[in-house]
Amino acid sequence: MLNKLLEEIVVSIVGKSAEGIVGLLNTPKYVNEFVIAKKLGITINQTRNILYKISDYGLVSSIRKKDKKKGWYTYFWKFEILKCLEFLKDFLMKNKMQIQEEINLRKSKVFYVCESCGLEYGEDEALLMNFTCDECGEIFTVKDSSKLIKDFERSLLKIDDKSKLVEAEMENERTKLDKKKEAEGRKEEKENKKRKEAEKKKRADKKKLSKAVKIKPNQMKKKPAVKKEKKKKFSKKKTKKKSQVKKKSLKKKPSSKKQGKKSKRK
Ligand SMILES: [Zn+2]
Repeated sequence: MLNKLLEEIVVSIVGKSAEGIVGLLNTPKYVNEFVIAKKLGITINQTRNILYKISDYGLVSSIRKKDKKKGWYTYFWKFEILKCLEFLKDFLMKNKMQIQEEINLRKSKVFYVCESCGLEYGEDEALLMNFTCDECGEIFTVKDSSKLIKDFERSLLKIDDKSKLVEAEMENERTKLDKKKEAEGRKEEKENKKRKEAEKKKRADKKKLSKAVKIKPNQMKKKPAVKKEKKKKFSKKKTKKKSQVKKKSLKKKPSSKKQGKKSKRK
């Protein structure tokens, strides 16, 4: 089902010709763009054009790897499934609103039609034309919109059904992502624990070593600490002097100008 929905998205963005890319991009792992091109039987540039178009909507993501021999980058792609489904849901909602508006219009207003030409006009327009067709001179008849309204209502139901499918797939995808996150969290926790244990062991080994050489760890630490403090004080003094010099020079210049003006006035 997911593939069908994804196909619909790709066809709406790129066109029917790009349909085949769906099966290749709907994978948990990123796929080499050259592999995609080969499998679709199109050039790498054609493949990239398709991918960029889908990428403009944020529906695919990519990573790049440098080819160590040739020195260029190869891109790897996959669908962002949740974003794809959100895109489709949004698309369906907009479509639904348009149809609903059209139904409301058909129910609230009268439309006129020339039966022989098949042309349709709104009430104001028909009035201006004196209810007579410009093309063939026939008198308009009132349009019976009931069949049209029924068709629209049927498509509304279809959209609702599809929206439900999209939402079910979204729920699926969210569960998948949650599980993935959980697994990653557990992995990280394990690694943290390992690292902490390794650090603990290292510290214990150091202690053993320093005891064996009979040097207190405190003495080892103190010396570099004193050096650092001295350096800091020294640099502070330097910056103070600089700023003082700047301030003095700033004050002097305007005062000399003032004196110059005063002397001119005199
Ligand atoms: Zn006509």
